[in-house]
Amino acid sequence: ANRIFSGIQPTGNLHLGNYLGAIRNWVTLQDDFESIYCVVDLHAVTVPQDPAQLRNSTREVTASLIASGISPERSILFNQSRVPQHAQLAWIFNCVARLGWLNRMTQFKEKAGKNREQASVGLYSYPILMAADILTYKATHVPVGEDQKQHLELTRDIAQAFNSHYEVDCFPLPEPQIFGSATRVMSLRDGSSKMSKSDMSELSRINLTDDNDTIAAKIRKAKTDADALPSEAAGLAGRPEAENLVGIYAAMASMTVDDVLREFGGRGFGDFKPALAALAVDQLAPIGARMRELLENPDELDAILDDGAVRAEAIARPILAEVHEIVGFLGMP
Ligand code: ATP
Ligand code: MG
Repeated sequence: ANRIFSGIQPTGNLHLGNYLGAIRNWVTLQDDFESIYCVVDLHAVTVPQDPAQLRNSTREVTASLIASGISPERSILFNQSRVPQHAQLAWIFNCVARLGWLNRMTQFKEKAGKNREQASVGLYSYPILMAADILTYKATHVPVGEDQKQHLELTRDIAQAFNSHYEVDCFPLPEPQIFGSATRVMSLRDGSSKMSKSDMSELSRINLTDDNDTIAAKIRKAKTDADALPSEAAGLAGRPEAENLVGIYAAMASMTVDDVLREFGGRGFGDFKPALAALAVDQLAPIGARMRELLENPDELDAILDDGAVRAEAIARPILAEVHEIVGFLGMP
């Protein structure tokens, strides 16, 4: 049977890239599949986090997910550290994956930057924990943004290596689900880097919690070129900032890029940006409002996560027991 797993880090609040690239698809998929959605706090601490801020962000991300349409009844929604099987399976996968595989990961290179010797070991082995997140549920499908494609390939390599080393058919090879028209939303300040929670510049991203004026201001200040919009998609080649803004518009309006350009082709950003801002406010304001309501009851959010964790662990525990048996560990975890 198909089972969905995906995660999001409590490293800050959700932004438009998370929403269009991942969350919107999670909401759709939960109607048709058993879906497990995880606030991945173990991943968050691969870079330094303030404890109070981490607790806060975990609740905020949870509230944002529910406000975006994730149902904690239909789906399983929980925080990663609460279910110990993720870390347990990650250790075993640490011993399956090869250094050479990790050395190819581009996200580590980007996040570690120039000072690689000072990066945490956790940041380096992040993709192994991600493989464990997915496979501790034997998930078959993983809806993510384009930036996670390489990590999904590594997950498949680990599953395959485990199965073949132990001559078992234990883990499925999970399929990435990268779909929608905004699988890689770019920074509003730089069309060559992706919109990220961890980008230093607030102006680089639109958060789901931004108020209407902030959304409008960020779009007004978004980097663009001076030319008018082309009348078809091919004309966006070599214009990454224009391509990004038109792509965001298309995704939010559920239109194709060509349709958007049929409407705005020949017009400048002075016309296009206010239309984009109006559309963004229209879609995001209700989510932000609902999220703020949910955050008024942090105890309720904690209870939702706790309930999710109990249901998640009920799936993960027997799978870990099976893995321990295969590996040759005595006694049940
Ligand atoms: P961080 O900068 O801390 O890594 P992030 O913005 O990359 O944060 P994640 O929690 O790492 O967010 O990713 C959550 C999900 O959002 C993943 O499925 C990821 O692929 C997707 N995602 C992240 N950024 C974008 C983006 N700019 N466009 C589309 N999808 C994205
Ligand atoms: Mg990320």
